[in-house]
Amino acid sequence: MEQPPLGNLPLVDAHLDLAENATLFGRSLTSSVAEIRTFERRAERQATVSLPDLERGGIAVAFATVTAGFLAEDVGEGFEPRSALYRTSEEAEAQALTQIRLYEGWEEQGRIRLLKSVNDLDHHLRLWRADRRPGLVLLMEGADPIVHVSDLPGWWQRGLRMIGLTFGDTRYGTGVGGGSSTFKEGGLTPRGFELLEQMADLGFIWDISHLTDEGVWQGLDLGFPRVCASHANARALAPTDRHLSDEVIRAVAERGGVIGLVLYNGFLEPRWSGDRSLSVTLDEHLRRHANHVASVCGWEHVGIGSDLDGGFGLEESPLEVDTVADLYRVGSIVPAAVREAVLSANWLRFLRSSLPRTL
Ligand SMILES: [Zn+2]
Repeated sequence: MEQPPLGNLPLVDAHLDLAENATLFGRSLTSSVAEIRTFERRAERQATVSLPDLERGGIAVAFATVTAGFLAEDVGEGFEPRSALYRTSEEAEAQALTQIRLYEGWEEQGRIRLLKSVNDLDHHLRLWRADRRPGLVLLMEGADPIVHVSDLPGWWQRGLRMIGLTFGDTRYGTGVGGGSSTFKEGGLTPRGFELLEQMADLGFIWDISHLTDEGVWQGLDLGFPRVCASHANARALAPTDRHLSDEVIRAVAERGGVIGLVLYNGFLEPRWSGDRSLSVTLDEHLRRHANHVASVCGWEHVGIGSDLDGGFGLEESPLEVDTVADLYRVGSIVPAAVREAVLSANWLRFLRSSLPRTL
């Protein structure tokens, strides 16, 4: 097989919505991005992510989401497909279980490995050097599929290891969706507190992405032990409630967490949303976010959470990114001395300290 540009460095992408693209939008992720583009013939939101491109790009580990689908009020009238919408937590649960079954199917076919423990991770990284199959850690984005807090052990058994309580609002808290410059009020619901406490006891990782500041501080004040932001940028440069204040960045880092920077143009350069002719680049815009986060909490807490298949496509991604296989290019916008840390080692260290040692 063709060697990825960085050889044996196992890259980590802390946020990809792989299953959702397949189960809700019918994309065949076992084909290459080039094949998907030819097949779909889309003029916009062209694919940038597939399993073969993860292999080609040397992405050894990805946090792969398990989602509820979409609440009608989050996405509006014209949203398609209607089958991706949910109204009840039982419908959300069904969507999420379908997505987990897809990941399990890929594992049975030898296309990926599901990583549920530090042992799994270490074993996977040894095999990866030869076969380049991506390893996936399952991350629930928006906790509505958890019908009862008492279901949590069952989700753990199914391999789920990370949970973000909200996308938009869920029964567990107030979510910020894609963000707004008029900051949304609200935090965790009583059920949200209960869920976080159970998550802490069972060993889950808490992903604070898409939660309001109030909710984040409520959880941090509980002393939750394993915290990260799988995909979020710096609010100092993208001033909406979707991004992280310097205080939150510092608090996540103090707890040993890592922040995954998102490669979506609208999150990198706020002016881009009003003027799509602006060219957004890793070299200028991502560099700015990375430098800012590092100046607040140090490079050992900076990683990538690209979200490249999170409802946007090629035209909405930085200029240097054609497919997810270009993730290594992030290495050239950070100081050479921290390149491996940002691309790989920071997230691997976080996983080693956060996942259970064995099953
Ligand atoms: Zn997201």
